[in-house]
Amino acid sequence: MKYKNIIILVFNLLLSYIGLSQPNIRVDPSIQMNLELFDLQKPLTLWLNFLNSKNDRSASIYWNKEEVNEYGDSTYFLLKELDLYQKGDIIKNLQYGITVLGITEIENCYKITSKLEFKINDSTFLNPFIFHVYAKNTKESEELKLYNPFPINKEKFMASEKIGNIEYIYPKHHKFNKKKAKQQNKEILALAKIYDFTLSDYQFIFTDDRESMYRLRGYDFNYQSIGKEQPSGKANVKNGIVYSHGRAEYFPHELIHLFINPIWPNTHGWLIEGFATYYGGSRGETYDWHLQRLGNYLKNHPEIDLNNMLELRNMDITTGYKYVLGGYLIQLTYEKGGVELVKKLMATGKSDSELYTTIEKLLGIKKIDLNEYIRKHLE
Ligand SMILES: [Zn+2]
Repeated sequence: MKYKNIIILVFNLLLSYIGLSQPNIRVDPSIQMNLELFDLQKPLTLWLNFLNSKNDRSASIYWNKEEVNEYGDSTYFLLKELDLYQKGDIIKNLQYGITVLGITEIENCYKITSKLEFKINDSTFLNPFIFHVYAKNTKESEELKLYNPFPINKEKFMASEKIGNIEYIYPKHHKFNKKKAKQQNKEILALAKIYDFTLSDYQFIFTDDRESMYRLRGYDFNYQSIGKEQPSGKANVKNGIVYSHGRAEYFPHELIHLFINPIWPNTHGWLIEGFATYYGGSRGETYDWHLQRLGNYLKNHPEIDLNNMLELRNMDITTGYKYVLGGYLIQLTYEKGGVELVKKLMATGKSDSELYTTIEKLLGIKKIDLNEYIRKHLE
């Protein structure tokens, strides 16, 4: 079970014990002591009014109009992970336990930092997030309103450079590696050409590591950054944006998602990940690297039954079965029948049984022979 799921489970258990009679919103005494000296009452009141609202919709009057118009009056607050109870309403979540920690003023813009804290019992508190939002005067009416952190942080801390149809957005302290970016563009274009994909304009946002990606998005602490730092990425397919960290300009896996996910929305998850891994690697390593690891691993683990491979999850924290074995399915299909056969493979349905049937039909490998076949070929 993933850490995130455990946290949600604990929260839901907790919720069944405590009814929320009134919002649990606190202001740290350090702010109270400095309110007058630094003239912070206005931004604090704005934030508290927001937090004490009935729900996201009614709280939208405290948020700036541009973002509310752009994203909608209940989804303008883009720090979705704060909705940890998955109630579909961020305000209601925050009201279970939030402490305003600090307000910093930088050029008429206030950075307001808060901490989520949920009480489990008298000695146990859960602190999943410390996050910030901004408050500043709107352009038109000079009224103090709240703003999402990501666009402002992007403006403050990131530079950009366009290579072909990809706009690279990177930390200002980073020396942009044009060669690496061009290499990625070249590979993407070549792939698009052989599969006949139409490309549009994309954004590729990268940071040094996971922590700095979270900070950029507004999380000064995020419990999901506990554990080993590894290169990783995420694709926002709807908006054509890739977020990645740990491999700078080069993370083709996620870019590939941007154009294959809309083309094959009904294919099996293993094939979508397999395709992106076969052509773009995974976790910053190449497909061949992962395949070699898998080969070694299987030798030492004869008990793993690949006849039911679609039930397997992760080999370890670096290699996931669906990425590497999904990639292997793409490789076998490509070697047998080139691009056209891969397109046929990708047209299979979402269910496991459909994928097993398609493998048998296109590759001639029966489900009961998968274990023997794959082990023999990876030796
Ligand atoms: Zn992926």
